[in-house]
Amino acid sequence: MRAIQLTAPGTLELVEVPTPTPGPGEVLLAMAAVGACHSDLHILDAPAGVFPTPMTLGHEIAGRVAQLGPGVSGWSDGEAVAVYGILGCGRCRACLRGRENQCRTVPVGGIGLSRDGGLADHVVVPADRLLPLGGLDPVQAAPLTDAGLTPYHAISLSRDALRPGTCCVVIGIGGLGHMAVQILAATTATTIIAVDTSDAALRLAKRMGAHHTVQAGPAAVEQIRELTGPAPDGAEVVLDFVCVDATLATARQVVSTGGQLTLVGLGGGTLPMTPTAEGPPPVPLETGAVIPFWGTRAELAEVIALARQGLLRAEVQTFPLSETVQAYQQLRDGQIHGRAVLVP
Ligand SMILES: [Zn+2]
Ligand SMILES: [Zn+2]
Repeated sequence: MRAIQLTAPGTLELVEVPTPTPGPGEVLLAMAAVGACHSDLHILDAPAGVFPTPMTLGHEIAGRVAQLGPGVSGWSDGEAVAVYGILGCGRCRACLRGRENQCRTVPVGGIGLSRDGGLADHVVVPADRLLPLGGLDPVQAAPLTDAGLTPYHAISLSRDALRPGTCCVVIGIGGLGHMAVQILAATTATTIIAVDTSDAALRLAKRMGAHHTVQAGPAAVEQIRELTGPAPDGAEVVLDFVCVDATLATARQVVSTGGQLTLVGLGGGTLPMTPTAEGPPPVPLETGAVIPFWGTRAELAEVIALARQGLLRAEVQTFPLSETVQAYQQLRDGQIHGRAVLVP
């Protein structure tokens, strides 16, 4: 079968490999769709030894059941499924509470992160990672497993704060941000303010349910402040899907006293928080910061339910597997609108 493998640090190649056989407790899936994630670029750029090579990438997976391994039952041939990508240890305190995204094993395993992923004609996954799609189009479903689940979990962490009359700022309307806007619109009554550098992204945000859009740049803080009111008011929650210095500076200047900064992006910027003796603190008093990671299996079931209700829909750009390398280049160059999805 064909597979897109990380063969060496920085090298992504389309190779021929044997079709894998499911072991005990595993299932072979025929791949239907795989989302291309920014974190795949981080895997590609990581130094030698951080990720195994060769390894098939792809952790946003939707496919059809093709073969059950020994001891597996309850899935029918051809059934469409989504894959929960985290491989928690199942034994630690966090896993026992269903929070495999907080598994105490370091580094936590993942399909397409520590073992072969879905950018191939077939993939083998543990059967307990499968969730039924219930009629959802797999091309739509693949991005739900990360681009949908990650913002859903991030929003869940602040759900109590997102009451009617509050504001939530969403910075970066890409693969995750455009899902965040829809999840906020579907599950909260907060006023949604979307921020991005691109007009097309802001138009997308508006279509997805944002109440206001603000062009990122020198005037952004003032424009957001016109909507939220002056300090100590502000946005109760700021979701930053970029996290470079510029977006973090915007985030800390618009968050309310007692607000929440939710840092999802992997941009590597710096957010000063520690108060000093001179001058006002860099963030308002009582501000919290959280670094969410992916989500739980139960939350993925809720994300799929939202999509089945028609309340969450990924904006996708599809590519054949043979154009995977080009798709990642376009992702790197910021040319993908919504989520890129590879269709093997
Ligand atoms: Zn990802
Ligand atoms: Zn664990």
